[in-house]
Amino acid sequence: MKRVVIAGLGDSGVLTAIRLAGHVDVVGVSTKPALVSGQELGIRLSRPDDWARDYWISFDRFRGLDRARTVHGTLTGVDLAARTVSIAHGDGTTRTEDYDALVISTGVANGFWRQPRLQSSKDIRVDLQAAHDRLAAAESIAVVGGGAAAVSSAANLARTWPAKRTELYFPGERPLPTHHSRVWGRLRRELTDLDVGLNGGHRAVVPDGFACDEITAAPVRWSTGQVPVSADAVLWAIGRARPNTGWLPTELLDDDGFVRVTPDLRVPGHDAVFAIGDVAATDPLRSSARNRADALLARNVRAHFDGKPLRSYRAPTRRWGSVLGAQPDGLEVFTPNGRAVRFPAWSIDRILTPLIVHQGIYRGVRD
Ligand SMILES: Cc1cc2nc3c(=O)[nH]c(=O)nc-3n(C[C@H](O)[C@H](O)[C@H](O)COP(=O)(O)OP(=O)(O)OC[C@H]3O[C@@H](n4cnc5c(N)ncnc54)[C@H](O)[C@@H]3O)c2cc1C
Repeated sequence: MKRVVIAGLGDSGVLTAIRLAGHVDVVGVSTKPALVSGQELGIRLSRPDDWARDYWISFDRFRGLDRARTVHGTLTGVDLAARTVSIAHGDGTTRTEDYDALVISTGVANGFWRQPRLQSSKDIRVDLQAAHDRLAAAESIAVVGGGAAAVSSAANLARTWPAKRTELYFPGERPLPTHHSRVWGRLRRELTDLDVGLNGGHRAVVPDGFACDEITAAPVRWSTGQVPVSADAVLWAIGRARPNTGWLPTELLDDDGFVRVTPDLRVPGHDAVFAIGDVAATDPLRSSARNRADALLARNVRAHFDGKPLRSYRAPTRRWGSVLGAQPDGLEVFTPNGRAVRFPAWSIDRILTPLIVHQGIYRGVRD
């Protein structure tokens, strides 16, 4: 049986592994012992137990991974000629794994909530709780950033802690510049109702050497000229995503360090190497994770082995999906043209999670 190594078992890696397991020998390598999703930052910070129930799922709970092997370790290199990857384990040992095809899905590092370091379940729990406790102890919160993570954080923190002063500072005229303008039109009302202060035209000065990977308390200065702002907790969500590609040769990467791919998600010049998710330079928004290219990729890997034609990935030009995550009154998912599709609250636990997400998307998740 052909062997496929999936490098990084996050949102895209897990789904690709599930789709390939049983057809080929799948080995998934990841620094976490579970799917620890990068999604829904606001819920993660404000209601970590709710978030963990849906977005932190240990690999042994996925029925679709029963026929795959998972390896807990850090990828440190690849030998493209010999078709092997090197892995460092937490106990200091290293080993190599052979592959017939390699899928690169190591994602990006972004803020303190998405870091590629090797972690145990206990480490993940400690991190989750520490961020929540830090924000719980603050009387005032400044969220810096204009993307979905910032908007979601401001809204969810304000809903969980209405007595705190929560302010959102974003650089443009409106947040969510890569979503359809209707999305902000709708969410602005929601944030205003939650009493979140909306401060447009504020571009923060990132302190020298600061990687935006912790909650800070020092005053925030603005390159746009406003007076510095102080808050007990400053959450930096300015989208400084760095690709987790330090383990790859530079010949595979574009100028920004993301993995170059052709429309069939193959790395140019390397027929047996594929990439998907936030690490793959598929389109300006690098949107192959949310657009569920895992199905296409799994099909292409099998077509590659069978000598059949591969299919192309086509990306929408606007971001879409949920921004705030599940709320007490339901879940809104925005389409690329900015329309909101609403799932009522009752349907989330009874239909959406068990049937659509667990069964439909993940092909079975054990309780
Ligand atoms: C079903 C689904 C629904 C989505 N819905 C939305 C939505 O509604 N709204 C929205 O904005 N976005 C949505 N997204 C997209 C999401 O925001 C991100 O794009 C997605 O989390 C990126 O996944 P990834 O697999 O590329 O990266 P990650 O999930 O970050 O996975 C990368 C993994 O690789 C590991 N890793 C990194 N380096 C190494 C190494 N050297 N060795 C070993 N392991 C390593 C990391 O620790 C991590 O576990 C969705 C995605 C999916 C799949």
